[in-house]
Amino acid sequence: MDRLPSGAVVIDTPGLRGVALAGSEDGLALAFSDVEELAAACRFADCAHVGEPGCAVQASIDAGDLSAARMESWRKLQRELAFQARRTDTRLRAEERARWKAITRSNRARGARL
Ligand SMILES: [Zn+2]
Repeated sequence: MDRLPSGAVVIDTPGLRGVALAGSEDGLALAFSDVEELAAACRFADCAHVGEPGCAVQASIDAGDLSAARMESWRKLQRELAFQARRTDTRLRAEERARWKAITRSNRARGARL
C-alpha cells in the first residue's frame, strides 16, 4: 500500500494499477494519442484489443486506418511500462520490509533497556 503526497492511498490491486502508473502513462498517451483515443472508444474499459467484441482498436486496424505495426509498438510500450511498474513495486516492497525490520529491532532494543 502506497501513500501519495495528496494523502490518497493506493491499494496494491491489479485494477488500481493504472492510478500508480498515471505519471508514465501520460507520456505514452501523448506519443500514441491516436491509439489511446481508439482504445477509449472500446466497448470494455479493460479491453486488451485482441479481438474482443466492440474493440475500436481492432476495428480500426481491420479498416486499414491504424497500422498493425503501430499497434504492436504501442503494445510493446505498454508491456515495458507494466514491467517497470512491477520492478519498482518489488523494490519498494523490499525497502518497506527492511524499514519495518529496523523499526522492530530498535523497539526491541529499547524494551530491553527499560
Ligand atoms: Zn480494444
